[in-house]
Amino acid sequence: MLTVVIVGSKGRMGQTLLACAGRLPELRVGAAVDQGDDLSVAVGAGEVVVDFSAHTVTAGLAERCAAHGRPMVIGTTGHDENEKARVRACAKRIPLVWSSNFSTGVNTLFWLTRKATEILGPGFDVEIVEMHHRFKKDAPSGTASTLAEIVAGARGVSVGESLRHGRKGIPGERPAAEIGVHSLRGGDVVGDHTVIFATPGERVELTHKASSRETFALGALRAAQWVWGRPPGLYTMQDVLSLK
Ligand code: NAD
Repeated sequence: MLTVVIVGSKGRMGQTLLACAGRLPELRVGAAVDQGDDLSVAVGAGEVVVDFSAHTVTAGLAERCAAHGRPMVIGTTGHDENEKARVRACAKRIPLVWSSNFSTGVNTLFWLTRKATEILGPGFDVEIVEMHHRFKKDAPSGTASTLAEIVAGARGVSVGESLRHGRKGIPGERPAAEIGVHSLRGGDVVGDHTVIFATPGERVELTHKASSRETFALGALRAAQWVWGRPPGLYTMQDVLSLK
């Protein structure tokens, strides 16, 4: 029996995590923590801390987890460079599973995107389109950013220099190295991602559509069970699913 602490427990993902954990006999929720609660007490209430609160919370929480030797699963997205560096530093002391998306389907999309980029080569233009519900705070989605990083990694180029977030005015002809990223927002869309590979004469589109947050919650809880007892390090859902 593994005891987990859910941080961000009153949110959309937090509520789904609590519901899913309640149905898994191998898991117990030691504490459900949200804004205003004492994080240091909460960290001591379980063996693995699962964070789906906000990017501003994650680095400080990871530092607390590192101080207490608590493994962590990070689901928050939208971290700035400073927050990312602080989290990475914690991975030297504790095992961390950090993924912009915990669904098995999206992790399959990650794998397929890498393969398609390698097979199709630089002659195909890549555009990434994501859509989420009207309440989502960050853009592009963490998953779209991961997809762009995968494409850039497979092409051996820097993601920072290749990204093009939307277009307006007269941007001119599309440079071949560009990776277009476009964010749509509306309604209650849980999360749609499409990677388009286009070249004269043909187009390949890889699409994933999430219709329930349970896919993320069940993946994150699986990651919590996987990370317990691992050596310190930075892991992703690709490690949990043996997709690397
Ligand atoms: P939400 O706004 O519904 O919930 C966030 C919760 O965190 C709220 O209840 C809020 O009160 C709480 N919170 C804020 N500050 C806090 C603090 N200091 N301490 C404790 N709790 C605090 O958001 P959501 O839709 O549930 O998403 C949460 C995060 O998870 C976002 O970053 C989102 O992008 C990410 N997300 C990741 C995945 C994935 O698979 N990795 C999937 C869905 C959402």
